[in-house]
Amino acid sequence: MVVEVSSFYGVYLLYCTNPRYHGRVYVGFTVNPERRIGQHNAGKRRGGAWKTSGRGPWEMVLIIHGFPSDVAALRFEWAWQHPHSSRRLTHVTRRTSRERQFEFHLRVVAHMLRATPWCRLPLTVRWLKQEYRRDFPPGLEPPLHMPVAFGQVRAVRGTKGARPESDEELPVAPKRCSVCLKRFQDGEEDGTPLRCFHTGCSMAAHITCLAQAFLQQEPDQFIPIEGQCPGCKNTVLWGDLIRHYKGCYGDLEADPTSSQEHWASELNREGVSRNASNGDSSPLVEDDLGFLAAGTALP
Ligand SMILES: [Zn+2]
Ligand SMILES: [Zn+2]
Repeated sequence: MVVEVSSFYGVYLLYCTNPRYHGRVYVGFTVNPERRIGQHNAGKRRGGAWKTSGRGPWEMVLIIHGFPSDVAALRFEWAWQHPHSSRRLTHVTRRTSRERQFEFHLRVVAHMLRATPWCRLPLTVRWLKQEYRRDFPPGLEPPLHMPVAFGQVRAVRGTKGARPESDEELPVAPKRCSVCLKRFQDGEEDGTPLRCFHTGCSMAAHITCLAQAFLQQEPDQFIPIEGQCPGCKNTVLWGDLIRHYKGCYGDLEADPTSSQEHWASELNREGVSRNASNGDSSPLVEDDLGFLAAGTALP
């Protein structure tokens, strides 16, 4: 099965299956994984990178997607390529002589998914080829709000499931923000309100209002992970609200409610260390994540 995702920004790992270069890997960024692997295997004159040109065939084995913008994904790509130059990854030790490049890159990305600022993002970890799938090292599993998915993914133009052009297409068009209770105005700085995706729920709120409401327990953070919908009272993941808002909700093959309990307990357990390691994160939200570029800036 191929999962279709719009507003796709992914960072992938290629594995070289050419016996002469066997075991080489390559990290790259793409908005269209199907086209990108074709370019790598066609050589640099047809859009492939010079590092992969003439050394194929390559297989795209793993992709991390769900970045809010191309800027966010490109910064992730850079850090995965240069872990020892990233001040976020000073705790990642160098590759040992016995460690294969593939294993090393998996170890690096496992650390990255648990490090700020990436650990706050609504990312999906996707194995594209079953035969390359590895378990993450014990203690280095991705945060529980990041689904680990299997199978191919396709980037589609962002029309399917996109938010309606006019409020008339929605059963109920709320006029007021469910958090601050102010009326929505045309041309507001905050833009289109966030809507809840639960059936029958008519909650709508300014992005900034809902973010602040979700962050009440985590005042040091800038990007919420989850919160209670002020309308239907369901616990919702911030990433799911944003995906719904941007019209790329088709990505959620993992039932977002099934892991809620485990996830909440992990957050509680990690509360202390998270806060301790987040001392330098405040000015970097916009910077590292490209949220402004994605049109979802938070105050
Ligand atoms: Zn509001
Ligand atoms: Zn709701």
